[in-house]
Amino acid sequence: MTAPAKSPRLALHWKILIGLALGIAVGLVVKHFHARLWAAAPEGSTLASVYSFAEQLTRLIGQLFTRSLQFIAVPIILFALIHAIGSLGDFKKLGRLGGKTVGLFFITAFIAVAIGLTLVNLIQPGGSRFISNEARTAIIEKIPGEIERANQLAGTAKSTNPWHLIRDIIPTNPFDALSRGDMLQVVFLAFMVGLALNVVPPIRSRPILELAESITEVFTTIVRWIIRCAPVGVFCLIAPIVATLGFDIILSLGAYCVTILLGLAMIQLLVYPSVVRLFSPIPVGRFFRGIAQVQMVAFSSSSSAATLPVTIANVRDKLGVPPDITSFVCALGVKINMDGTAMMQGVATVFLAQFYSIDLSLTQQATIVLTAVVAAIGSPGIPSGGMVMLVIVLSTYGIPAQGIAMILAVDRVLDMCRTIVNVTGDAAVAVAVAGSEKQLMKV
Ligand code: ASP
Repeated sequence: MTAPAKSPRLALHWKILIGLALGIAVGLVVKHFHARLWAAAPEGSTLASVYSFAEQLTRLIGQLFTRSLQFIAVPIILFALIHAIGSLGDFKKLGRLGGKTVGLFFITAFIAVAIGLTLVNLIQPGGSRFISNEARTAIIEKIPGEIERANQLAGTAKSTNPWHLIRDIIPTNPFDALSRGDMLQVVFLAFMVGLALNVVPPIRSRPILELAESITEVFTTIVRWIIRCAPVGVFCLIAPIVATLGFDIILSLGAYCVTILLGLAMIQLLVYPSVVRLFSPIPVGRFFRGIAQVQMVAFSSSSSAATLPVTIANVRDKLGVPPDITSFVCALGVKINMDGTAMMQGVATVFLAQFYSIDLSLTQQATIVLTAVVAAIGSPGIPSGGMVMLVIVLSTYGIPAQGIAMILAVDRVLDMCRTIVNVTGDAAVAVAVAGSEKQLMKV
């Protein structure tokens, strides 16, 4: 495999960080002057046209960046996994890897939700200490647009049957699974093909394995090209978000935001470093440096699924996790390991119960841990993906789904932050599994 070309000047992750910082700065400037300048300019005037053109162009480049990552995700996972599992030659190892991976996913998810619930009970962000009756009315008045979105989510959630989450692991048509990009189904397909390749005679399996390896390398090269565009991509994703953020509503739900951010910080700075240190020799600093690019792409795209190709490239190239463990853990993780989302769903449920003065018994709170862990598994790794399943959690505890409207209004930034946690969790488990198997490579 060819090593990525080293830039003679600035390292790529610095360039991405600069793109991110510039995007935030430009977004803030645009937001500040928007009402006074562009919005006030008469329609059709040069100023209005230039603004509208620049806005459309920025959004377009941002979308091109995310779409190019999405475009690469399915083929890279399919072929990398087929090659990884197909050349295993040892089913016991596969069982062990699967057990460790899923075990760590669940343990970290339970710890994450437990942290969230402890914080939300201690801080009580939905109680009268933080939200007075007048503030309640004011908040609800500010969010009519969000109520419509909340109703749409409730509609989607009603048609989601939790049993189908398990049923749908097996696609009825593998080509349909590939074209829809359903990661769990793609993993299932690659798994089956990989297993069968271990059983058929080598004369039949060798050409397929060689082809899968070559295709993986081709797509890995494309991923590297896309990552090189990340500084611009990240700028174009973040600037329009910051330009349209409602800062006043964020402030009025400040205690809720602080609770979530505190919980995310604890998972990120305590739970994952412990996992990495416990199972691998990789120092925590090197772990975080190795996934800096991944975190910045996750933050600006709010999508762990779109970030997947970057996660795979960095976990393998910078942390030295072997390709088979990387593709297996990261592809599975993007679907079922979402600790940031699980924690948010737990905190949001208790927060809304406090807001609506609904008493949740200790037993009910304990069951929230389980419900949130399962709901996060069902949440897609896309922007606001955790919100649909939150509707289901709320309905389990008799909390009005419309309360979600309030949370939606502040969710943009929180979503960006929990997506960082979601991708970091996948990388931490990949490192831990490879470390426990003594398979970490020198990089
Ligand atoms: N945006 C999150 C992700 O992609 C999902 C969510 O919590 O909304 O990981």
